[in-house]
Amino acid sequence: MKRVLITGAAGFLGSHLCDRFIKEGYRVVAMDNLITGDLRNIEHLMPLANFEFYHHDVTKFVHVPGDLDYILHFASPASPIDYLKIPIQTLKVGAMGTHNLLGLARVKNARFMIASTSEVYGDPLVHPQTEEYWGHVNPVGPRGCYDEAKRYQEAITMAYHTYHGLETRIVRIFNTYGPRMRLNDGRVLPAFIGQALRGEDLTIFGDGSQTRSFCYVDDLVEGIYRLLLSDYANPVNIGNPSEITIKDFAEEIIKLTGTSQKVVYKPLPKDDPKQRQPDITKAREILGWEPKVGRAEGLKKTYDYFRGLSKERLYEESNHRE
Ligand code: NAD
Ligand code: UDP
Repeated sequence: MKRVLITGAAGFLGSHLCDRFIKEGYRVVAMDNLITGDLRNIEHLMPLANFEFYHHDVTKFVHVPGDLDYILHFASPASPIDYLKIPIQTLKVGAMGTHNLLGLARVKNARFMIASTSEVYGDPLVHPQTEEYWGHVNPVGPRGCYDEAKRYQEAITMAYHTYHGLETRIVRIFNTYGPRMRLNDGRVLPAFIGQALRGEDLTIFGDGSQTRSFCYVDDLVEGIYRLLLSDYANPVNIGNPSEITIKDFAEEIIKLTGTSQKVVYKPLPKDDPKQRQPDITKAREILGWEPKVGRAEGLKKTYDYFRGLSKERLYEESNHRE
């Protein structure tokens, strides 16, 4: 039975990865310091014999007894309001956290994967974004702590691959959504759905002409799983190429939720990327992967999840993004 360490396991993506690896018959070691995660995301796994949880900050020395076949480093604040609040921790988990886990991977002779991001392309001047594009990032702007942490994470991962011969994988994840996102994490989908459920107006930043391309979490997890088991060490974009403006996205949420609220316009945050769409030619060719879940289906599943949350949680996790 293979054993996999997943960092950031109590977060949105980490918890779905835990589910998938348990389903595939792996032994899962989950690690998280709960800075943006929530144990409720993995509480259903806690009683399983194949599941262990370590409450640990990966910027500190990481020790895991026993063998490891794979390490998936997904720990990092991921939403702009999170990393704007804790920029130093964000840089540390990308830099020192990644270094610690690469060291662990060497000791265990484990294959190592990092969760990189479309943010390495910054506010892109090439559209759609291919893996060959080097990006357009402001290192000293508000998003710099995240974007540069992820760029460093890619660089040190590639250095371990080149100089130590470590088996490594780099997935560049584009905006992903689904159940277990935090209602107050500030990302656009939980923000809009939370607002609709609480009977508030939907806040569009800027004029809403900026675009994003949203991938349903199950599709992403499938792409990650295939990339991990492939023999491809260069970065691969995983995302859904179906692109939409934020204004049209708000309209889709209004229709889906049946809210009678309207949209209100707020200032656009500094350095907010104007457009984003993955070129997934590599994922198609190398992994035989493409997304299967359309936005209508994915949004419905996600809305059903949020609707099922208690009233207390809906208000406890109300959106405070300024
Ligand atoms: P999330 O905030 O839900 O999960 C991140 C988890 O990491 C949380 O549980 C948090 O407590 C944990 N964590 C943070 N710092 C830690 C540390 N020092 N030690 C241990 N645990 C720590 O975010 P997510 O959306 O699940 O994102 C997971 C990963 O995927 C991140 O690396 C993120 O950069 C990347 N990513 C996500 C998206 C997306 O659309 N969700 C897009 C691109 C990249
Ligand atoms: N956004 C918005 N209203 C909100 C939250 C976000 O209009 O309440 C916009 C945000 O400015 C950005 C897009 O939605 O243009 C996606 O934002 P998110 O934080 O989800 O992700 P990212 O900017 O990192 O892609």
